[in-house]
Amino acid sequence: MTDHSSFLISTLEQARSEHSDLALMIDLHMALARAQANVPVTPGAQSLDKDMVAQALDHGQPLLSLLVWTPNPQVLTETWVEICNILATHRADLAEALTQMARLSVDEITALVHPYIVGDDIPESVLAPSPALTYVALNHTLRPFLRAEAEHWHDWFAHAPWYQGYCPFCGGGPDFATLEKGETRRLLCSRCDTEWKIGRVGCPFCGDGTNSYFEDAGYRLYMCEQCQHYLKTLDARKLDTVPLLPAERVVTLGMDIAARAKGYVGV
Ligand SMILES: [Zn+2]
Ligand SMILES: [Zn+2]
Repeated sequence: MTDHSSFLISTLEQARSEHSDLALMIDLHMALARAQANVPVTPGAQSLDKDMVAQALDHGQPLLSLLVWTPNPQVLTETWVEICNILATHRADLAEALTQMARLSVDEITALVHPYIVGDDIPESVLAPSPALTYVALNHTLRPFLRAEAEHWHDWFAHAPWYQGYCPFCGGGPDFATLEKGETRRLLCSRCDTEWKIGRVGCPFCGDGTNSYFEDAGYRLYMCEQCQHYLKTLDARKLDTVPLLPAERVVTLGMDIAARAKGYVGV
């Protein structure tokens, strides 16, 4: 298990003891994190030219778009089935749909990867029985592969100037943010857990300057009237410790429910 995975799991264990109301939700995410920690990933199969990467980043093109990237089909399929089973165990109400999803073939699962990464439509026949659930399962399935790949390439993109609201590695949108000392915000990629900095003001999804939010116990829920996206944000300016954003994403799942109930959308 990597340091990242064991730190995430121990932080979630600590959070579980502090938030008994979130115990069921945190149990599910600990099970997912444990499964993801055991996926045998082999990042860095390709080589890239440094100038080409710098040029792509300069044009707002994420690094992953330069790679012909597909996880090992067998490992991908085993991970997909395991993620579907974990979700089914913790969400009995969704178990029937998840059992059906777990039966997708290796080819069908592999064919989900590219459209997911570039934001293309996934064929309806594959999305049945539940489109939203397919995206959730895919997000959890691909996370260990994408995270390992992002860690492999980290030094190639982390120091390049990047002012976009999407991830410099995989192009995914943020699902959590933190306000830092100074005038910066740190965003967390919803797919690969890469973190990157952008300016404090404005909606990362549409670039609009709107800044309305609800605040509660150090957390802010930003909502954009322009594009209807929301962004969960932790005000970490007065904290003594550096927050672990993938754990913060889990302990604030109640904010996702509240935002969606108001008609706003996440990534
Ligand atoms: Zn990413
Ligand atoms: Zn917006």
